[in-house]
Amino acid sequence: MSDQLVSTSPATDEVVATFPIHGETEVRAAVARAREAATWWQGQGYDGRRVALLNWRRHLARTSEELAELMRRENGKPLTDARMEVLLALEHIAWVAKHAGKVLASEKRKPGMLLSNFSARVDHIPFGVVGVIGPWNYPVFTPNGSIATALAAGNTVVFKPSEFTPAIGAFYVDAFRAANPGAPSGVLELVTGYGETGAALCRAGVDKLAFTGSGPTGRKVMAACAESLVPVVMELGGKDAAIVAADADLRLAADAIAFGAAGNSGQTCVGIERVYVERAVKDEFLDILTRKLTAIRPGSEKDSSYGPMTMPSQLDVVRRHIDDAIAGGGQALVGGPGSVGERYVSPVLILDPPHESAAIQEETFGPTVTVTTVDSLDEAVKLANGTRYGLGGAVFSKHRADELVPRLDTSQVSVNSVLGFAGMASMPLGGRGESGFGRIHGPEGLREFTRTRAVAEQRYAVPGVNLLSFERAGWLVRLMPRLVRWLHGR
Ligand code: NDP
Repeated sequence: MSDQLVSTSPATDEVVATFPIHGETEVRAAVARAREAATWWQGQGYDGRRVALLNWRRHLARTSEELAELMRRENGKPLTDARMEVLLALEHIAWVAKHAGKVLASEKRKPGMLLSNFSARVDHIPFGVVGVIGPWNYPVFTPNGSIATALAAGNTVVFKPSEFTPAIGAFYVDAFRAANPGAPSGVLELVTGYGETGAALCRAGVDKLAFTGSGPTGRKVMAACAESLVPVVMELGGKDAAIVAADADLRLAADAIAFGAAGNSGQTCVGIERVYVERAVKDEFLDILTRKLTAIRPGSEKDSSYGPMTMPSQLDVVRRHIDDAIAGGGQALVGGPGSVGERYVSPVLILDPPHESAAIQEETFGPTVTVTTVDSLDEAVKLANGTRYGLGGAVFSKHRADELVPRLDTSQVSVNSVLGFAGMASMPLGGRGESGFGRIHGPEGLREFTRTRAVAEQRYAVPGVNLLSFERAGWLVRLMPRLVRWLHGR
């Protein structure tokens, strides 16, 4: 391995940029700078931070074409997808900048009868320094969900982008600095390298760590953070299912599912990987979905539907899932094993693979989708809930959505659409089970990057009846047993 991190285009292998591989010393130094900057950043208050974040957003907007072009080169996604990703990230920066003060304002609490001479409040205070380990699939939008939120809540951040997208990470961090020349560099620090750099960040004294990536690496991150009891947010993979009920608008469902399954080459944690369709509409639905998927064109041209697989080793995962599904009796209606090329994967649709197959049970992260025929919506719900994951999902139905949504064991659901929740800056995003825990985005995300401080203030003393003093009156002590029974024994 070279002593430099060389980032290359997944479409052409052209070198995009080189970066240092930061080891423990450099990572600790970055965290130390972030710690020093934390006092300054917290001192800016919500108003000052809002100005800085909006400056950053404006700067990113003005340089967005340059950023989108870099995303096309380093991540491989078409320009339109890159532009969309930047647009969504900017929406999120604007939302947290404008809402952090309100969401995280101190809350008054009732002190209760026994301590009624007190006032009580809960403050939401930043952790200090937050480490963010980001993925490559949405190299701006996904880490931004943690970074902008943590910054708005008053933390400083040390960001380790994926080894596949360090230049995009550097552009994003440099933009903050360019937009806020008066801010110390430690407000948002960048460290680059491979997994070891991420592991070093977990052990470098951060106060919280936000990770997005795979479950196996998430477990390693948690183990490293556990050594110092560093709390973590885990945004892991998904195996999202769409349920297509017999009363669904099938055209709309097929169109949304084709996009949810194949958009961004299927490299979307909340992408649709499985579909459960009621038997009565199966043939018609499959007919439309097949046509939609067949029309999709992967490539690097301007009008391509999606780009290459960003991480080359993912090709093997996708191939294995397709092979396994077909070996188990699944029928390839669109594409098949031959759809996995050297860089690109064409859309694949497999009908009725076994429930135990890898294509149903493991995150594929490619432009493939399974369709399983069900005899009832009860069966659809049972199968949709039948994996270890619990990120998002979708329901397509004109009249049954209200009944189906509460039965899905996921943290996000779209109705008659896909992915909508991720684009809304006011909505939380996170998982359960193998999909992780904790929340980014929206008010829940802002709170995730703060801890609470309960403040109880004695407003006036009541001589003799102070429960928290050895000076309390004898009659009060004698009254206690009756008080307990009167208050709680009735
Ligand atoms: P990883 O989980 O391995 O990597 C995610 C991030 O963690 C990267 O920045 C990576 O750095 C870093 N990392 C790797 N090892 C360690 C470690 N020991 N300690 C701390 N940080 C570490 O995901 P991959 O990129 O390898 O993708 C594998 C699978 O993960 C995909 O197939 C997909 O299923 C899933 N995934 C899910 C995502 C989601 O949005 N939930 C996003 C991306 C992937 P580096 O890249 O430098 O190795």
